[in-house]
Amino acid sequence: MIEATADQSTKPYNALMNAQRSFIQKGGLRTLKQRKEVILKLKKLLKDNEDRIIEALQKDMGKPETEAYSAELLFIYNDINHQLKHLKDWMRKTNVSTSLINQPGKSYLKPEPYGSVLIIAPWNYPLQLLIAPAIGALAGGNSVVLKPSEITSHLEELIHRLINNNFQREVIHVVCGDKNATQSLIDAKPDYIFFTGSTKVGSLIMQQAAKYLIPVTLELGGKSPCIVHKDANLAVAARRIAWGKCMNAGQTCIAPDYILVHEDIAKDFIEAFNNVIHQNYQGDVLNNSDMAQIVNTHHFKRLTAMISGDVVSGGNSSETSRKIEPTLIMNPDKDHPAMQEEIFGPILPIITYRQIDEAIEKVNSGDKPLALYVFTSSSSTKDKVIEETSSGGVCVNDTIMHITSNDLPFGGVGSSGIGSYHGKQSFDTFSHMKPVMEKSTWIDPSIRYPPYKLSWRRFEKLFLWLAG
Ligand code: NAD
Repeated sequence: MIEATADQSTKPYNALMNAQRSFIQKGGLRTLKQRKEVILKLKKLLKDNEDRIIEALQKDMGKPETEAYSAELLFIYNDINHQLKHLKDWMRKTNVSTSLINQPGKSYLKPEPYGSVLIIAPWNYPLQLLIAPAIGALAGGNSVVLKPSEITSHLEELIHRLINNNFQREVIHVVCGDKNATQSLIDAKPDYIFFTGSTKVGSLIMQQAAKYLIPVTLELGGKSPCIVHKDANLAVAARRIAWGKCMNAGQTCIAPDYILVHEDIAKDFIEAFNNVIHQNYQGDVLNNSDMAQIVNTHHFKRLTAMISGDVVSGGNSSETSRKIEPTLIMNPDKDHPAMQEEIFGPILPIITYRQIDEAIEKVNSGDKPLALYVFTSSSSTKDKVIEETSSGGVCVNDTIMHITSNDLPFGGVGSSGIGSYHGKQSFDTFSHMKPVMEKSTWIDPSIRYPPYKLSWRRFEKLFLWLAG
């Protein structure tokens, strides 16, 4: 791991953020042209270094090349293209009506940047979750301080070098380090904090930000349930659930965390799931380069310690390759370790239910999840689940894919997060929508000024009529 500065106190970070703030105040990213230039330069830097990025992701966690390209780079390119296509429209002020009481005058909302934005990223998609929020922040005309995860150290080192060697520090700057670096960065009082990571650390970040009243977006985790109803297309459900759970070896914030399956089809679902795994990994998950590694030994041990009870599929692991077979655990009781915390690995508890209400009750008995999946061919079952549960987002008859939409904001609710981004929502998140009223001076009725001529009752009537 590299240290960003020898001195991890707040002082150098104060200087950095002041320089960024002053750059923004002086109009450094005020125009569409300036913002587009920076975003395109960032895209070119990534394009020119794709091989190195993929290599770093493979060194850090054996990310399969296809996953490294699609879930990290391609995801970012798609976001950049969308932002650039619409930025001109989003940057426009939005006119709103002006009531009679303020005539002659006009009113509008003008998006303005916050200033210096701090982006704190986790290790599971260490590039995407660092750069995608940065694109939104730059589109909104902000400067950015990036704090990558120290756990994926190859990617951390590479992105530090690429960005800091190619951009003015007033525009984007990478700071490396552990939690002490992050805490010092927050103490330097950025104008906005965008955090992606665990619920526990998210709460600490928010407490520290509250000291300085810094606004936050928190993209957190949790246990995302997946309901498989008896009328689901089982072959497709098994394939899509296995894909969503095995991508990045289950180290995905919106991976299905546990399955709620109708008891009539539980056996068939397990069989279909096993067939998919066999087909996808040719019977050898532990030596297969299409399965990512668990990020480190600490997480490998945490996960393998969860494998107990009625294991109906998988269960084997290799500490040498840091790989774990997709493992189904049947009806674990509520004290089972896999039901205590977000799993974040290829282990999948399966809980059977008889009535859809039982599945809904189970979902509602836990914290509000980041994602909820339901596989069914019945629109009334689908509507009931959507209506009677609360989650950051829902995807019907698929897993993960809702995150790829430019038109669906992504974020949690309750303990799975505060705020959202992607598409226009990224621009809105990183913009203060400043309300502006411009008034003319050519009439100035004396009625509002002392000495007051109307009784408050008559004043009220007049005010409500004019303001309505
Ligand atoms: P983490 O919370 O441990 O770390 C995230 C970042 O916070 C890292 O950069 C780390 O250096 C920093 N950090 C850690 N402890 C800190 C502290 N005490 N004070 C200040 N900073 C601190 O998360 P992680 O292990 O890197 O990532 C896994 C978690 O992230 C999972 O819970 C997952 O669900 C969640 N996640 C959420 C999303 C989302 O979009 N909602 C995406 C990916 C991951």
